[in-house]
Amino acid sequence: MGWGALWLALGAAAQLAGRAPLATAAFACAIACSIRQPARLAWLSIRSRRLDINALMVIAVAGAIALGDWWEAATVIWLFDVAEWLEGWTVRRARAAVRAAMAIVPARARVRRDGAEQDVPARDVRVGDLVIVRPGERIAVDGTVHRGMATVDQSPLTGESWPVEKSPGDTVLGGSINGHTAFDLMATACATDSAASRVLQLIEDAQARRAPTQQFVDRFARRYTPGVVLVAAAITVGGPTLEAAGLIAPAAAGPWSIGGAVAAWGYRALMLLVAACPCALVISTPVAMMAALTTAARRGVLVKGGAQLERAAGITCVAFDKTGTLTHGRVTVTGIVGVGGVSAHGVLGVAAALESRSEHPIGRAIVTHARAAGVAVGDGDDFRALPGLGAEARVGESDVIVGSHRLFEERRLCTPALHAEFEAMAEGGATTVLVGRGGEGLGVIGLGDAPKAAGAGAVAGLRAAGVRHVALLTGDQACTAERLGAGFGLDAVHADLLPADKVARIEALRAAYGPVAMVGDGVNDAPALAAADLGIAMGTTGSHLTIEAADVTLVGDDLEKLPDLFGLSRRALSVIRANVAIALGVKLAFMAAAVLGVTALWMAVLADSGASVIVTLNSLRLIRAPK
Ligand code: ADP
Ligand code: MG
Repeated sequence: MGWGALWLALGAAAQLAGRAPLATAAFACAIACSIRQPARLAWLSIRSRRLDINALMVIAVAGAIALGDWWEAATVIWLFDVAEWLEGWTVRRARAAVRAAMAIVPARARVRRDGAEQDVPARDVRVGDLVIVRPGERIAVDGTVHRGMATVDQSPLTGESWPVEKSPGDTVLGGSINGHTAFDLMATACATDSAASRVLQLIEDAQARRAPTQQFVDRFARRYTPGVVLVAAAITVGGPTLEAAGLIAPAAAGPWSIGGAVAAWGYRALMLLVAACPCALVISTPVAMMAALTTAARRGVLVKGGAQLERAAGITCVAFDKTGTLTHGRVTVTGIVGVGGVSAHGVLGVAAALESRSEHPIGRAIVTHARAAGVAVGDGDDFRALPGLGAEARVGESDVIVGSHRLFEERRLCTPALHAEFEAMAEGGATTVLVGRGGEGLGVIGLGDAPKAAGAGAVAGLRAAGVRHVALLTGDQACTAERLGAGFGLDAVHADLLPADKVARIEALRAAYGPVAMVGDGVNDAPALAAADLGIAMGTTGSHLTIEAADVTLVGDDLEKLPDLFGLSRRALSVIRANVAIALGVKLAFMAAAVLGVTALWMAVLADSGASVIVTLNSLRLIRAPK
């Protein structure tokens, strides 16, 4: 491009100085510098019988040379080169930013070596290691089920989104996502590059999700471009014919000759060809999308694709999950009470043995507390998460269950003694879970979790960004949820919800307030995220299942980024509208002018490339859009 510019400038100088042969040579060099790539692509497009922009450009250049107009030929192809380069640059920039952002998502695994559990980077897992897989986790390496049953979602690898049942001995692929059970996996391959390559694959998928717009434009170009070539040919032949027949006035001045008429009409036809290039239209949407996605990624907001960003622009209602989303998810145990003579330590030991396999913040808090209190944490079998309710497992000889008051009511496990302790603890604002063993109530555990300091600001920011209704959807009890909701200035609080209830709530919110975004972190939020118009997952505390179901991932779990996302998506949409208007407007004006013969070829090129560049620069504004 640089050399092309130099030769073009030399040629122009020579031309103005009246040194025509020198100028022609310089312009020829300029053309040689810029035409290689378009010529190659044009050749490919002609061979596959799908004329594209490159073919139009090469035809236009050849035509201009045939007419002896070297300056214009060189300008056409150089401007085209510049526009192409600008477009490629935007895409490269966006890709690099997305790659960098994706690398932040951790890929670690829990392995059991020499009887001890260790948290290691996925690439350090060796063949033969026992990997402990928790509910909702992305599986780090390829392996076979060693102990337990699994239901895995292989859609990241295979595209088929139905969960597949796996029993001991079955193969499970790294990169697939575990369902609601915990199981042990025997690694059969190391993750050295496979984990990394799959993350990269996901990025490529994200790029491919722009495809609908692109496909539309391609299909359009496939019919449109040959059409334009036909019209241009018709003008070249038809114009002189009509002139010869005396039906229209000659286009060229001076005495009439067939050669002069063909040259004059050929020139108009070339102008039509160049003016008709839908370059600016083709790049009007994807470049703006890429720019916006890049900006978002740089701020730690990973949007899966252009379609998702477009949906973000229309959101009028936002629903939040509580634990891990509005609170830090760093849950701590604040109190333990046993009933019927069971000691606090006894309650803790039983609950911790069950929760040792849980991925839920409550489960992890109980295990951490038990370890800190010096209570031996046993091992449970057949762990099963009851999303939004609690969890159950076999510990030793008996069935153990830990979960919400609602769960104990449903299972008829809530004795009056247990209920009284629950009420007393919940009154104090603690999230309270009940513990039962073999059908008997053992006690209650109270838990606290700090609200995120940024929450209230984020809610205010959302309102400023045009969101009309902000709600809280949680599986926790009402009194804890309402306290939090009041602190954050939320419009509504819906408590005691199961994952399915959250889905129903999303639908009700949509009916009342329009397109809904759901923000969540846990496995239990995945259905609601999928049901919402826009699913937003926490990238750090969020489970892989949730991130997979989401359209948007907040890499650093920062709620303050949310208003940014909506602001940015709205700006992106208005930039795209402006781009389409610019591209179409310039196009139509010049096509009309070309047929009427009132413009010059270089003007048509400048208009076309100019529109492309304006559209690209307009899109790049999104990369530097103010916060
Ligand atoms: P949120 O909607 O706030 O993220 P969840 O839906 O994850 O909350 O959980 C709702 C309730 O279910 C919790 O408040 C707790 O009572 C119970 N619960 C869920 N998972 C567990 C678990 N692993 N151990 C104990 N209780 C649990
Ligand atoms: Mg949660």
